[in-house]
Amino acid sequence: MTTQQTVEHKYVYDFAEGNKDLKDLLGGKGANLAEMTRLGLPVPPGFTITTEACKAYLETGAEPAGLADQIAAHLAALEREMGRRLGDPDDPLLVSVRSGAKFSMPGMMETVLNVGLNDRSVEGLARQAGGSTDPATSGGSSAPAGGGDRFAWDSYRRLIQMFGKTVCEVPGEEFEHALDEAKRARGTSDDLDLDATDLRGLVDAYKKIFREHTGREFPQDPRVQLDLAVRAVFESWNAERAVVYRRQERIPADLGTAVNVVAMVFGNLGPDSGTGVAFTRDPASGAQGIYGDYLANAQGEDVVAGIRNTVPLQELARIDKDSYDELLDYMARLERHYRDLCDIEFTIERGKLWMLQTRVGKRTAAAAFVIAGQLVDEGLIDLDEALHRVNGAQLAQLMFPRFQLDHDIQPVATGIGASPGAAVGKVVFTSARAVELAAQGEAVILVRRETNPDDLNGMIAAQGILTSRGGKTSHAAVVARGMGKTCVSGADELDIDVPKRRFAVAGRTVTEGDVVSIDGTTGKVYLGEVPVSPSEVVRYFEGEVDPASTDDALVVAVHRIMSHADAHRRLAVRTNADTAADAARARRFGAEGIGLCRTEHMFLGDRRELVERLILAREAGEREKALAALLPLQRADFVDLFREMDGLPITVRLIDPPLHEFLPPLEQLAVDVAVAQERGEDVAKEEALLAAVRRMHEENPMLGLRGVRLGLVIPGLFAMQVRAIVEAAVESAKGGGDPKPEIMVPLVGAVQELETVRAEAERIIAEVTRERAVDVLIGTMIEVPRAALTAGQIAEAAEFFSFGTNDLTQMGWGFSRDDVEGAFFWRYLELGIFGISPFESIDADGIGRLVRIATEEGRAARPGLKIGICGEHGGDPESVHFFHAVGLDYVSCSPFRVPVARLEAGRAAVVTTGSDSR
Ligand code: PEP
Ligand code: MG
Repeated sequence: MTTQQTVEHKYVYDFAEGNKDLKDLLGGKGANLAEMTRLGLPVPPGFTITTEACKAYLETGAEPAGLADQIAAHLAALEREMGRRLGDPDDPLLVSVRSGAKFSMPGMMETVLNVGLNDRSVEGLARQAGGSTDPATSGGSSAPAGGGDRFAWDSYRRLIQMFGKTVCEVPGEEFEHALDEAKRARGTSDDLDLDATDLRGLVDAYKKIFREHTGREFPQDPRVQLDLAVRAVFESWNAERAVVYRRQERIPADLGTAVNVVAMVFGNLGPDSGTGVAFTRDPASGAQGIYGDYLANAQGEDVVAGIRNTVPLQELARIDKDSYDELLDYMARLERHYRDLCDIEFTIERGKLWMLQTRVGKRTAAAAFVIAGQLVDEGLIDLDEALHRVNGAQLAQLMFPRFQLDHDIQPVATGIGASPGAAVGKVVFTSARAVELAAQGEAVILVRRETNPDDLNGMIAAQGILTSRGGKTSHAAVVARGMGKTCVSGADELDIDVPKRRFAVAGRTVTEGDVVSIDGTTGKVYLGEVPVSPSEVVRYFEGEVDPASTDDALVVAVHRIMSHADAHRRLAVRTNADTAADAARARRFGAEGIGLCRTEHMFLGDRRELVERLILAREAGEREKALAALLPLQRADFVDLFREMDGLPITVRLIDPPLHEFLPPLEQLAVDVAVAQERGEDVAKEEALLAAVRRMHEENPMLGLRGVRLGLVIPGLFAMQVRAIVEAAVESAKGGGDPKPEIMVPLVGAVQELETVRAEAERIIAEVTRERAVDVLIGTMIEVPRAALTAGQIAEAAEFFSFGTNDLTQMGWGFSRDDVEGAFFWRYLELGIFGISPFESIDADGIGRLVRIATEEGRAARPGLKIGICGEHGGDPESVHFFHAVGLDYVSCSPFRVPVARLEAGRAAVVTTGSDSR
C-alpha cells in the first residue's frame, strides 16, 4: 500500500536533469554523466538514484516511500527512448547498475551489468546481436564474440556471476571454478575459446551454484533483478572494505552512494567493438598528449581485470579512425569544459562511440603541479585557481628523494613509513658510532629498537633511522619527521641485538657496516644499496636549480605557484631550528625567522657533563661554576643563529624538559652502581649521581618539574640563558648584524610565573644592553590549558604568544604524547573517535577552541599582540588553514616543512570558487 503524498521527494534524476555540480546528490559518476549528456556527448541514456535515497535506505533498512514508483517512471521513459523494454523476450533492453559516491572510491563498491537477462530474453538478445540461435553455427575463437548466440549466453553468465556475488553474496570462487572447469573441458585457458554451447552449460552450472547458496532460483523477473541490484549497491556503502577505504581517505561516513542505471552498450560484439580508458594528459608526469588503453572486442571489466592485453590508445586511430577522431574531439571539449585533466571510459559498439564515464582525473603530485601550470598558460585557469589545484601534502611528497626500483628488488621487512624519503647507508647500532662514522664521511642508518633523547646526535648524523618498535608518534618518528629525516619505525620482523651490533631478518644476519636501504614512505626495508635520485624540487628550494633557465617543467610550475602563494599569504612562516645549519636551510626554504629554538638541544653531546655538574651541584659555588662554563657555549650558539637569521626574528625558548632527562636512566645506573660496589670499586661519584637521579625521578615528568618551573627552582639557570642570548645579540649588533631576539618562557600557566622570570630577565637585558642597545621581546608559550584560559592576564606580561600545540594537545586531552599512540590511538582511529591523530592535525573543536580563546583574550588585553604557533601542527596543511582563520601572525615548523606551510598559507588566503585539491 502506498501512502498518498502531495509533494513527493525526488529520488531519481534522468541524466538530462542533472549537472556536474550536483555531486552531493548524484555522486561523482552520476553528476558527470549528466554533464556529458547536457554537453551533447553520446552518453547511453539512463538515470541516477540519489544519495538521499541511499541514506534513507541505510537508516531505515527499507527503500523510502515513492522510490519504487519513481524508478518505474524513469525506467518507462528510458524504455521509450531506447524503443525496447527491460528484459523483453524478443528485443530486451539491458541496463547496468553502478555505484557512484561523491568521492571516487575505486573498486570499493558494487556494479552489476546486463540486468534484464533471463532464460527468455537471452534468446532475444542473441537474435538482436545478430547471431544464430543454433549453437552449432556460433562461437569459436576465430570470431570470438561474432556469434550473437555466444555473446548473449556469455552476457547471461556474467550477469548471474556478478549478481550472485554482489547481490546474494555467493562466493565468487565458486563461479571461477565452474568457469575454469568449462575451459578445462574445452582444452583451453582462454575464455574466448568457449562457444555458445559451452556458455549455455556454464549458465546452467552458475544457476545451480546460485540455487545451492541462496536456496532459491536466479530471479527471472527483470524488475526484481533491478531492485535487488539497487539495494545491493546501497548496502555496499557499508561494506567493510569501503568503510576502511573511507577512513583512510578521510571521506565522511554519512554521504551514501548514488546508483546509476544505464542502458547497456556492448564493446564485445565483434572486432568493430571495444572498450577503453583515456586521459587528456599524462596523469603520471602531467605531460600534454593523448594517453590511454584500448581493448578491442571486450567489456570494461576485461580491461580492469587485466585479463587481456590492451593496446595504446593511439592504435585506435588505425582500428577505427572515425571513432578515434570523435573521441579526441570529445576529450578536448571535456578538458576545456572541466578546465582540468579528465579521465574517460568509453565503449565502441559496432563502430558507434559511447561515453560511459568522465571525471577530473587523479594524478601524481608532480602531475598536479605541472598540469596546474599548463592550464594557466592555456588561459583555462588563473594562478589563484592553480594554487588550489595543488596542496602541501603533494609538495611534501615531491621534496623527498626516491628509490629507483626498476629492477626486481624485494624488501626484507616492512615497518611503518614514519617519516618519508629514501635513505641508504651502513648499519650502526649506537648514536656514538653514527656520529663517528658520519664524521668520516660515511652515510649511516641508525638501527635501534626504539630511540630516546640520547640518540639525538646519532639521528642528526644518520641518513635514516630504522626501529623495530613504535608507531607514527614514537620518539623516532616524531623527531625524524621534525628533522625531515627518513624513518621506518616498528619494523618488528627485525630482531635487533644492540650489544652484538647485529640484527636478524628473513633468515639473514645484518651486522654493523652492512648496507641497507629504507623507504620512509612505504616502510620497506631492503638489504644492500638501492639507487636513489635526489628531489629536483629540493634542489630548487636550495637554490641549486634556477627556475628561469631550467627546462624541468615541475620546477617551473612549483616556482610559479609558490611565488603566487608567497605574494598572497597573510601568515608569516618561521622555522623551528636550534642549529645554524637548520636555520640556514630553513632560510633558503623561505623561513622568515625562527619561531622556536629549543635550547635544551644545545645541552646535549659533550655539554652534557656540564649539565650533570649543574644538576649535581651541592652548593651555589659549584652551580655557578657550571653555569659560567655553559654561558660562553650558549652565547656562541646564539651568535651563529643570529648570523644565519640576520634581520629576522629569533624566538629562543628557555630550557624546557625535566632535568633528569640529562642524567643516565635510573635502573641502569642502579645496576651499574650495585655491580661496581660488589666488585669493591670506588663508586662515590656514581653514588652521588644515583642519589640525584633518585631525587629528581618523577612519576609523570611531562607534568612535573619542567619549563618555567625549572627556571624558578634552579637559581641562575634562566638568567644564564637570558644573558647568553642578549650578549650574543649585542655581539652580533656590534659586528654589524641586525639581531632580533625574542625570549620565550615555556610552560607558563599563571601570569605570576611569567612576571617573576620577566623581572629577572629585564634586569639582565638592561645591564647587557647598556653598552649597545638591542630590542629584546619577552613573551611566552601558551601550552598549558590554564594559560589559554587566562590569556588576558598573561598578555599583560607578554609581548608575544606562541602556541605550543604539542603540549596544549597533550594537556588538553590529558594524555601523554610519548605513550598514547601505541597504547590506544589505533583503537580510537578505528572507532572513528579520531579522524587523525590530534598530534598531527589540530583538533579544531577542542584544542583549537583554546587557541581561539587565548588569541581573542590576549589581543583584547594587548592590542596588536604578536601571536604564532610552534607545535608540530605548524607544518600540517589543515592546521595551517585553521591558524589562518583564527588570525595568527605566523606558523613555525621544521625547516623541511617551511615550503609546505608557505603553500598552504597561500591557499588559505586566496579564495577561489574553482575546484579545490583537498
Ligand atoms: C609544544 O609543546 O608544542 C612545543 C613546541 O614544545 P615541545 O614540543 O618542545 O614541548
Ligand atoms: Mg611544549
